[in-house]
Amino acid sequence: VLVLEGASQVYGDLRVLDGIDLRVERGERIALVGPNGAGKSTLMRLLAGVEAPAAGRRVEGHNLVMAYFAQDQAKVLDPQKTVLQQMTEAAPFSMVPRVRDILGSFLFSGDDVDKPVRVLSGGERNRLALAILLLRPANLLLLDEPTNHLDLASKEVLLEALRGYRGTMVFVSHDRYFVDALATRVVAVGGGGIESWPGNYSDFLAAKAARGETGHSELR
Ligand code: ATP
Ligand code: MG
Repeated sequence: VLVLEGASQVYGDLRVLDGIDLRVERGERIALVGPNGAGKSTLMRLLAGVEAPAAGRRVEGHNLVMAYFAQDQAKVLDPQKTVLQQMTEAAPFSMVPRVRDILGSFLFSGDDVDKPVRVLSGGERNRLALAILLLRPANLLLLDEPTNHLDLASKEVLLEALRGYRGTMVFVSHDRYFVDALATRVVAVGGGGIESWPGNYSDFLAAKAARGETGHSELR
């Protein structure tokens, strides 16, 4: 679906990513994990193609339709428009009749949908940004910390929506429960490189601990 070959990224003197090889295969749900500043968002921008690597290349598969949720995605919302307006304007014509139901499934009540975005809480903004992004008929979702600011109920809603999704997905999360419930593969980012683990994140942490490594212990 999407491949990075020898991809590096450099900001000034800082080599954030150093020769990353990553193949995203059809149907995978890859979790990118690792500490703050490890380069997860940088790797996501390279995957999304919104930033070009300093070295290496990005190869896109045929018929790729991508939806990219940036770490600060909620910033794209128009503060003056209401929840319903934002959602309706973003919806493809055929989905317009369903936007109230979709907003309901993302925990926006009948009263909430007429609020202007500027009065929404951080979690509500993130939820709206996700609902808008998931309107896209994408076959690859790139989600950078989609659970940001979300309470437990909202995380469950998102988890169910993403579990029902049939396409390919790469997501960043610091939430061990969310990663375990969703990922088919865990890719740990750190020290400029990546380490791939074909399975459950808790097992990855246990394997690391058994080797006497304590990395990625920042996860909840
Ligand atoms: P977090 O968990 O906090 O979101 P992250 O793993 O997503 O962290 P990145 O945002 O990819 O980390 O940043 C990796 C490193 O690259 C950080 O040290 C950051 O300061 C640096 N960096 C990222 N983008 C830029 C930029 N445009 N210019 C300069 N430095 C940058
Ligand atoms: Mg980040």
